Amino acid sequence: MFNVEELKRQVYRCTRCGWCRASPNIVCPVYESDIPFEHNAARGKIALARGVIEGQLQLTDELVRDAFTCTSCGNCQEHCLSYHPYKTGALTGEPVIDPVETIELFKTYVVEHEGALPIHKEIHDRVKQEGNPFGELASNRTDCLAEFKQKKKADVVYFVGCMSSYRLQAIAKSTARLLQKLDVSFAILENEVCCGSVLLRTGQSKEVSDLMKTNLEQIRSTGASKVVFSCPGCFMTISRDYPKFGSKLEFEPIHLSEFLVDHLGQIGINQSEIKTTYHDPCHLGRARKIYDAPREIIKAVYPNFVELNTNKELARCCGAGGGMRSAYPEISEKIARTRLEDVKNAGVQQIVSACPFCEYQFMELADKAGINLDVKDIAEILLENLK
Ligand code: SF4
Ligand code: SF4
Repeated sequence: MFNVEELKRQVYRCTRCGWCRASPNIVCPVYESDIPFEHNAARGKIALARGVIEGQLQLTDELVRDAFTCTSCGNCQEHCLSYHPYKTGALTGEPVIDPVETIELFKTYVVEHEGALPIHKEIHDRVKQEGNPFGELASNRTDCLAEFKQKKKADVVYFVGCMSSYRLQAIAKSTARLLQKLDVSFAILENEVCCGSVLLRTGQSKEVSDLMKTNLEQIRSTGASKVVFSCPGCFMTISRDYPKFGSKLEFEPIHLSEFLVDHLGQIGINQSEIKTTYHDPCHLGRARKIYDAPREIIKAVYPNFVELNTNKELARCCGAGGGMRSAYPEISEKIARTRLEDVKNAGVQQIVSACPFCEYQFMELADKAGINLDVKDIAEILLENLK
């Protein structure tokens, strides 16, 4: 997938306008929460990539850090006038540069020349060995769903993902229970493996083809026409990135929030007065443009719903993505704290999201930040409040 020509093509198409940094409010979470210097936002990173490709800059430790301090949140892409040329009124048609893709290509270039960051290499090796980034036993994956694993053929596959299989099993169990209550005929893959998102976001794309084949062959064998994802990272990678590796998807990929919204009319819900807000996961919102479905579910349960000060296309990132949580935990934490301040200012007792990774980040850091907060997934709130 990595192609230095594509990296060259993209770096020369950056007009250096700076809208990805501040337009007029600060756009990039790394620029906002770390040091507000040029190298921390997309324009600076793309200029550095260009300097490296042209041989004017060496890949020093500092420069490698600049390539990897990016959460792949897509906020720069959302603001980039060259990505959205029609916004200028002067151009129409396809994006001429995708800043997120350019930075991910730059990461891949660095990995090809200098090797991966040590912690990212460890994650890579764990994925290769056990099929998940935590190094947990592959044989234990989806153990928590043993009672739902009988079906070999089904209309729907539930793709569980690494986070819900090993870290936030309540999401996996709630999702499976909801599908069961909705009388959905669904299967769970016998040997599901990591979708490869963590490798793509950290410049290590070589193993992704093998992971893709393993997952797609198993999905095909179930005969399913739909695959439901509770993790936006898996959803984005399989629906958007697998086709870039030459795979034709023979099923409809669908995020759990959209699947559940289509079935809301079938279920009775006990409403609750708890004041609740929603955090838009970057890979569900900006990357896949799904904003309304999770809100519809939350409002059906909690009519006392409030928006955060930045939301939908402009939502702040949680700081966990792009390999930042593992490689640069201090910056990742600062970004999360900024987002948690938004939550605190909204005066809510509960935040709901639709991404296990964002939720894990908030659960870990809310206590540390002294914020008393319940963090829940859409699957959990719906199951808990069924009549
Ligand atoms: S993807 Fe997000 S973190 Fe990365 S450069 Fe763009 S705005 Fe900054
Ligand atoms: S990446 Fe886009 S928004 Fe940022 S400086 Fe380049 S053209 Fe402008």
